[in-house]
Amino acid sequence: MVKYQGISGAPGIARGEAYLYIEDTTIVPKYQISDNDIEEEIARYQRAVKKAADEINDIKKNLNPEAEEEYQMLDSHLLMLYDPIFTEQVFENLRISSKNVEWVLYDQITALVDKLKASQDTYLQERTSDLHDVSRRVIDHLMYKKKKETLADVPKEAIVVTSDLRPSDTVRMNKQFVKGIVMDEGGRTSHTAILARSFGIPAVLGLGNISKKIRAYDTVIVDGSKGMVIVNPDEKTEQEYQDKIIEQKRREKILSQLKKYPCQTKDGHKIILKANIEIPEDADPALNYKAEGIGLFRSEFLFMAPDITPSEELQTAAYTKVLETMKGLPVTIRTLDVGGDKLIKEIENSHEKNPLLGWRAIRFCLDKRDIFKTQLRALLRASTAGNLRIMFPLISCEEELLHALDLLEEAKRELKAEGKPYKEDVPVGIMIEVPSAALASDILAQKADFFSIGTNDLIQYTMAIDRGNEKVAKLYNPYHPAILRLIRLIVDNAHEAGIKVGMCGEMAGSPQSALLLLALGLDELSMNYHSLPEVKEVIRSVEMQELKDLCEAIRKMSTAREINLFLNDWMETRFENTKE
Ligand code: PEP
Ligand code: MG
Repeated sequence: MVKYQGISGAPGIARGEAYLYIEDTTIVPKYQISDNDIEEEIARYQRAVKKAADEINDIKKNLNPEAEEEYQMLDSHLLMLYDPIFTEQVFENLRISSKNVEWVLYDQITALVDKLKASQDTYLQERTSDLHDVSRRVIDHLMYKKKKETLADVPKEAIVVTSDLRPSDTVRMNKQFVKGIVMDEGGRTSHTAILARSFGIPAVLGLGNISKKIRAYDTVIVDGSKGMVIVNPDEKTEQEYQDKIIEQKRREKILSQLKKYPCQTKDGHKIILKANIEIPEDADPALNYKAEGIGLFRSEFLFMAPDITPSEELQTAAYTKVLETMKGLPVTIRTLDVGGDKLIKEIENSHEKNPLLGWRAIRFCLDKRDIFKTQLRALLRASTAGNLRIMFPLISCEEELLHALDLLEEAKRELKAEGKPYKEDVPVGIMIEVPSAALASDILAQKADFFSIGTNDLIQYTMAIDRGNEKVAKLYNPYHPAILRLIRLIVDNAHEAGIKVGMCGEMAGSPQSALLLLALGLDELSMNYHSLPEVKEVIRSVEMQELKDLCEAIRKMSTAREINLFLNDWMETRFENTKE
């Protein structure tokens, strides 16, 4: 039995066999062939090229008709596939080297890529990723690999052990079979952790090189609440965890009885609790958990399906589904927030040196007007199906907000001219997640209908800590006095301007933070729906005055550590079983 301590990514306990999901490290085989095999190798190459071309043509068929850049890119890939000079060179090298054709292709591409990288011409340098993409398709077919393995292919119940997961991998995983996640990298507010919490899958992250230590089929216990992983547990530990799993189920049952009660303190102070969702299908369980609306729909996950950019029709249908499911309750849909750890094709190819400070969220959308306008049109078209609120992410200055609002008006004018119905008065709010927006929130409050504080990014950018980097995870703390001061400032400025302010960052879903936020004056909290009962439980057990006193005591403290310890002690004496 071996125990490993990491970072708690998603709470809960899971037990199962290890399923190793390791980055595709396919090694291209290299072997000698005889002269008699040359013709068959050429035929094999031609068949693989044809299959790769069919694949690309299929992707083209599913593209949004307005996605001109994607069409152009795919057409250029088709041209590369059939380039006569390149093809002749493959056959020539095949004859000279007498090696198998996948190796010949791999070798030829590697040499070409090296040459392009060394050139001074940035256009040529940027073609290297296209070359990799095209050649990988052909090599996969030569090696009879139909498609890359994904977490959607996990064949039975298992604990996924991996070095790193991209949010796009996580969102597509087989949620029925993936029982737990164990990962070398990642921090508590990385999007992989957020998704695991959202799907209710226990996860432990930031474990160094655990993916090299655990073997396939090892028995693994994931204790997501403690951030601990136990490999091949002894009998006593097995029993201990069986008991914990039974206790976990018992507590879930008790908490579920809270659904029918309102979220208010003992002396009647109400706060609205909403749910964060990443996929339209999660609106249904959110409603079952009695969320009072959707406080954040991360629309970008619609854009992470492989190879397609969602069309206006597809998006309209997805947004309509969420609005209809929520039956008139407010649904805040955040416009596309890609970049950082959430990659889509356009961004992946931009090779930025500092992606978290780069082409992200609203910045990307204001540059990619066609993608943004398609989304705004889809949102407006869906608006007739329910109570929609639109929210712009990562606003850092007034100009960005005004520019986005202009494009929204333009989308309305277009729909009106086309005779397509939409609601004129959809509220438009912004996320406050950049320090400049927090400090200028009095200015922004004049132009926005509501604020939602995104602490995941606000902490990252205020403290200068990459939220996904386990090496600096210990510095990432919502109780740093600077963060608490910014939250106070944002709330005061919003209320001064007469608008509501919520929080949809992960801080909102922690019971002890929720108490603090209630006393700080937040109007609503939005979190993954699994956290709703626990947060409601603590709020229903306290009175406002004790929370105000708690806040006052904390205001005088100078370090996050001091505040953490104080809050933990306070929770321990005030409640049983709710210490975090
Ligand atoms: C945030 O930054 O707090 C937030 C809710 O947005 P995301 O986690 O998607 O960046
Ligand atoms: Mg954010």
